[in-house]
Amino acid sequence: MPGMMDTVLNLGLNDATVQALAKNSGDKRFAYDSYRRFITMYSDVVLGLGHHHFEEILDDHKDRNGYTLDTDLTTDDWGLITRKEAVTRIDPGALDQLLHPTIDPNAERKIIATGLPASPGAASGEIVFSSDEAEALKAKDRKVILVRVETSPEDIHGMHAAEGILTIRGGMTSHAAVVARGMGKPCVSGAGALRVDYAAGTMSIAGRTFKAGDIITIDGSTGQVLAGRVPMTEPALSGEFGTLMGWADAVRKLGVRANADTPNDARVALKFGAEGIGLCRTEHMFFEEDRIRAVREMILADDEKSRRAALAKLLPMQRADFVDLFEIMQGLPVTIRLLDPPLHEFLPHSEEEIAEVAAAMGADPKKLADRARDLHEFNPMLGFRGCRLAIAYPEIAEMQARAIFEAAVEAAKRTGKPVVPEVMVPLIATKAELDLVKASIDAMAEAVARETGTKVAYQVGTMIELPRASLRAAEIAETAEFFSFSTNDLTQTAFGISRDDAASFLGPYMARGILASDPFVSIDREGVGELVRIGVERGRKTKAKLKVGICGEHGGDPASVAFCHEIALDYVSCSPFRVPIARLAAAQAALGKGPAGEA
Ligand code: PEP
Ligand code: MG
Repeated sequence: MPGMMDTVLNLGLNDATVQALAKNSGDKRFAYDSYRRFITMYSDVVLGLGHHHFEEILDDHKDRNGYTLDTDLTTDDWGLITRKEAVTRIDPGALDQLLHPTIDPNAERKIIATGLPASPGAASGEIVFSSDEAEALKAKDRKVILVRVETSPEDIHGMHAAEGILTIRGGMTSHAAVVARGMGKPCVSGAGALRVDYAAGTMSIAGRTFKAGDIITIDGSTGQVLAGRVPMTEPALSGEFGTLMGWADAVRKLGVRANADTPNDARVALKFGAEGIGLCRTEHMFFEEDRIRAVREMILADDEKSRRAALAKLLPMQRADFVDLFEIMQGLPVTIRLLDPPLHEFLPHSEEEIAEVAAAMGADPKKLADRARDLHEFNPMLGFRGCRLAIAYPEIAEMQARAIFEAAVEAAKRTGKPVVPEVMVPLIATKAELDLVKASIDAMAEAVARETGTKVAYQVGTMIELPRASLRAAEIAETAEFFSFSTNDLTQTAFGISRDDAASFLGPYMARGILASDPFVSIDREGVGELVRIGVERGRKTKAKLKVGICGEHGGDPASVAFCHEIALDYVSCSPFRVPIARLAAAQAALGKGPAGEA
């Protein structure tokens, strides 16, 4: 009975039947008002979404129009909003909440520390301090949070095994943050107040100590680290989500691709609507257990012959990786970046690891240890990395190019869809660098065509991630067939701020108003953005149809996506879990909704 118990009246009304009620009753206002009451009651009684939410919207609308009574509303006021209005009303950032588990809003939060909200979602688990331990416990079905001072590519297996990642150092584009976002795992980075003692197996703060095995929860959406296990709410994607995304796709101009390194990333990316892979970081394929030894042999080799012998071991594995990716992507574009990170990231550290590699190579362990020491760099991010590797050791790029072209032939045979790989050269500063690397890629394409009897169509392009490359984009575009603005490094090099060390001082910069937001999260329009704009203009002056995208973390940030739309990029590429956010943000930008949310 109404008033005595929870009641839902007007059951049976929906978008279609309300039209019939309006027609048959001859009273549109009555029909829509009944429908409104049904929606309000259903939401309140069945979904637990309080009445007041709807009353507030109605009151706002009445105030705006100078109405005092519900009966002042005319039939025009009841019109349904258009698809475009629906697309602009949703905050793209809020989609993050839909795509990941979140902490139950009613749960008690015992906050231990706060870091950066580096990758959204929340997770609970036992503390582990090493990636090997994370993997070992995962094998026993235990849930763990990997706690590291910072992560490096060697931690990939531990990051895969962990429910979430907590680091003491590192900013929003640090290794932990970027990789966790790619994996769709929660991450809190740069929680600098915590002290980690690996030897003792403890983490402490303000007189409290947590040991390996203690349970913590991390909330990657707020940056909080919490004691104990906290109840979670699981995400549920409805059909309405797909409908909304379809409406967004109908209006957006920007393409949306994903940064995907593994077959699993590629599948997730497709599920979320990615239209291709904008960045495959090949080094992430080098850390699987069966190949890291061959990678180490390659790096520690002191002549070309032994380097080639190690590369020959890697070739079939790398080729199989690419066949998988191409097959999953079914002819959609796939951009593969040649090896980029400084070589020392792959080096063996412990004596045991050095001995293992030495045995595999038949080399003297002491000699290898010396060579590893020689590769030490003071400033590795500005050191022996990117295209510099391909120039000093052309055989590395040759192996990767061979793997790409042979895989393209194989995948096209399997799927019946031609694969057009986009080979991307990292860290170019000059046209001459790109010319040299492109020549060896072209030569390899010809060699594979001769050997297989199949000619693969492909493109060679470059990342634009150094200010000099943006400024010299006109001549670089003579050689490049596409540009991908890699704004993680471009931000790092334009500001001269290390992306791995920024967390310790960016907080005060923002608190004191020097920077409005973290430039590694949301593009700095005036500075880094200007470099991108210059690069696009100069590049397209040389080649009007030059394909231009962005693959830094900014590709999944709504305000940065709006900027990319304004400067007419062809696509943005972001981690698979941020693809829906980018699709919606791109649609809003096309509909003229500004970056700060103003219409
Ligand atoms: C970049 O620098 O923006 C980029 C996408 O590459 P990475 O993060 O691997 O340096
Ligand atoms: Mg980079």
